[in-house]
Amino acid sequence: MPEAVLITPTAPIANHTHGGRAKCLQRLVRLDLPVPTTVALSFMAVHSIANGELPDLEEILERFAPNALLCVRPSSEDPDWGGPGAILNIGMNDARYVELCDSLGRDAAAALYLRFVQSYAIHVARLDPDVFDDVEDNGPDGLSEVLQAYEAETDEPFPQNPAEQLAAVLRSMARAWEGTSARLLRQAKGAPADAGLGLVVQEMVPGYGDGECGSGVLQLVSPDTGMPQITGRYLSQSQGRDALGAGAEAVFLEQDSRGPSLQDLAPAAFAALQAHARLMRQRLREEMQVEFVIVDGEVHILDGVRVTRTAQAAVRIAVALAEDGIIPREEAVMRVDSRLLAELLHRQVAPDAERDEIGHGIAASPGAATGKLVFTAAEAQASAARGEPCVLVRRETSPEDVRGMHAAVAVLTERGGMTSHAAVIGRGLGLPCIVGASDMKFDSKRKQLTSPEGRVFGRGDVVTIDGSSGAVLAGQPDMMEAAEDGAFLTLLAWADEQRDIGIRANADTPEDAKTARKFNAQGIGLCRTEHMFFDPGRLTVMREMIFAETSEGRAAVLARLLPMQREDFQELFRIMEGLPVCIRLFDPPLHEFLPTTRSGQRELSEALGIPVSDVTRRVEEMEEYNPMLGLRGVRLGVTVPEIYDMQARAIFEATLDASKEGEPVVPEIMIPLVSAKREVELVKARIDAVALAVKAERGEDFAYRLGVMVETPRAALRAGEISPNTAFLSFGTNDLTQMTYGMSRDDAGRFMSAYVNQGVFPEDPFHVLDKDGVGELLQLGAERGRAAYPDLTLSICGEHGGNPESIAFCREAGFDYVSCSPFRVPVARLAAAQLAISSQLGPKTEKRAKL
Ligand code: PEP
Ligand code: MG
Repeated sequence: MPEAVLITPTAPIANHTHGGRAKCLQRLVRLDLPVPTTVALSFMAVHSIANGELPDLEEILERFAPNALLCVRPSSEDPDWGGPGAILNIGMNDARYVELCDSLGRDAAAALYLRFVQSYAIHVARLDPDVFDDVEDNGPDGLSEVLQAYEAETDEPFPQNPAEQLAAVLRSMARAWEGTSARLLRQAKGAPADAGLGLVVQEMVPGYGDGECGSGVLQLVSPDTGMPQITGRYLSQSQGRDALGAGAEAVFLEQDSRGPSLQDLAPAAFAALQAHARLMRQRLREEMQVEFVIVDGEVHILDGVRVTRTAQAAVRIAVALAEDGIIPREEAVMRVDSRLLAELLHRQVAPDAERDEIGHGIAASPGAATGKLVFTAAEAQASAARGEPCVLVRRETSPEDVRGMHAAVAVLTERGGMTSHAAVIGRGLGLPCIVGASDMKFDSKRKQLTSPEGRVFGRGDVVTIDGSSGAVLAGQPDMMEAAEDGAFLTLLAWADEQRDIGIRANADTPEDAKTARKFNAQGIGLCRTEHMFFDPGRLTVMREMIFAETSEGRAAVLARLLPMQREDFQELFRIMEGLPVCIRLFDPPLHEFLPTTRSGQRELSEALGIPVSDVTRRVEEMEEYNPMLGLRGVRLGVTVPEIYDMQARAIFEATLDASKEGEPVVPEIMIPLVSAKREVELVKARIDAVALAVKAERGEDFAYRLGVMVETPRAALRAGEISPNTAFLSFGTNDLTQMTYGMSRDDAGRFMSAYVNQGVFPEDPFHVLDKDGVGELLQLGAERGRAAYPDLTLSICGEHGGNPESIAFCREAGFDYVSCSPFRVPVARLAAAQLAISSQLGPKTEKRAKL
């Protein structure tokens, strides 16, 4: 016999057997709130109904008052998994209609019956909604039209027996849940394949009487900001209008200029509702929206649901609940989805804004910005100089574009993936960025962008880049401002109390370092020194060095670079005030620094005072078939060691200078793209020699730590022989992913969505760490490295460093810290704290209980 229980304070009802709504209603009953009679059907009961086995309907109906109208609502374990829509006014038939005509009046009674017939016809009898298209009247005439249409379509009169109506409603809702599309939809929201549905059958409170009658919803906070504010709406029967006005901002004001408020109409009911909402907040330990009916001035509570909320409101609500002593701080930390936190750091397209989407790509850097289209870095700079916000559109970006990126409010590229140049720089700058938007046509000659439907946008046209969703929008939708407010800072401070893995930031410039400090990063985990040369003045010096054909020529350029680098490092040390700063020696994929266009080559020839043909020749000579696997990283250090010598000297001299001014500095120097022990030995010998030379020249001592960046599979496999020469290993998972998959990080964007859509990869591995393959290399490297040198510091500094999944992986593997773009530091801090709290509490609490 399928199970149907009356909801009482002691009835055996649980989230996992009857669903969240049934459990919440039981909690409201336990609080003695005026909840109408409700019966809960368990998951098993509903499953049986879907298979044709109905519960004893007469027994269910006996629980309710004779002639009561009923409603049935879904009750899934997690409200986010959805469920079939509620069906109201079950029990309505010709006899009840006649009765209601007396008490309510013919028009109101007809409208009630008509609505029931229509929703029954569409959702239960599954008739096409078009059947009722011609019905214009809501009164008795409309009703008879609707009843006739029903009969004509089904060849049966509208069912009059309440038990028969209820049976059909239960069956249709149970079957809707078991349908394939509903299942796929909820599985996409994380529901297990066998997730059950409960149903609640509730007596409807007749919304009419002599005094004030009506229905509505009320909550104590704004769903947008989470600030205390009574919001909701109320439809008054007696006023025949919405007493609060429509819209989310409608409030229960004392003296509302739009007409009488609920407080005017029924002050006692308004006060009671607020008291009920406060009690629910206190005892259900959550900010709840109260669904209510008022009859003759008396309040009935139909339901309570968790207030829907923006990311900003989620943070405020969690912090306020903890500050009011309703939940512990740890729970507040657990209640905010760490991924949503990123939304608070940037302006976003407002959730209810109209969106005219004209293209889509990879959401490479979150936040949204609106500007006029420009197609070159120079145009971007000119636009910024005119004070006009602009969106820089490029096929892909290179160091030559960095100035333009600084000048733009957002960046859009046709090519690239999560770790390509534009994406990395965009995230570092906190600039909204979409890469790999290959569904749009980029015509750089004509300076035009064409949407998949053929809409053409040219220079000066206004678009919005939504870097959080990857959507390119025409025009300027409404925006929501960033909200790093007090609650945000409080929550992160609480998170830090719990966290047990370090969080550093990847920072190359003083601005990055300041952002890192602002977000409380515990140091710099990766300073990409080649990024220090993106400034146009410096880019030329850098190119001059790359172009130098003799060692004297190179020495002369390096002598010019030394003071610049020394100043760079000193500034970083100054900003970080003694916190660790890990500086990666030069790792330029050389092709990124060479001028590719004729005009770029002409400019360089002017700057260097050599013929264009020399520049072209040198560019050709240096051309590599596969530059990402070419003369990069330590390979450059081994073949042209003077560059690393210069950098080491600059680091050491800056260390001494900065230590004099403030906190003592112990710099960390990292060797990139290592694949063999001998590479490390060679570089280490030279760096140690430079250290000795600087100490001797200055007559001062300093300490430093030398480490290796593990970015090739071989370095991970041979970590056992590499680690004794080092103080730390930092996994560069961008290159490690590229090399493990044999898949270019710059080109993968072209086929990635096809791969993910067809299930070849569950996610873009440049975005979410591939735990199975790349992860195994991380694990092997960590184990072998630590076995050979137990004091080894382990970290990850690829773009994966800020992802909650990667943080979980690194924490499990015993890593000391993760390092990510500065703007991802808050997300990483919160995610790391949540992992620590979950592991303290044990597996049962890892899945947060939802109402
Ligand atoms: C990496 O490869 O993971 C890394 C951090 O270095 P880059 O992105 O500069 O190649
Ligand atoms: Mg790398």
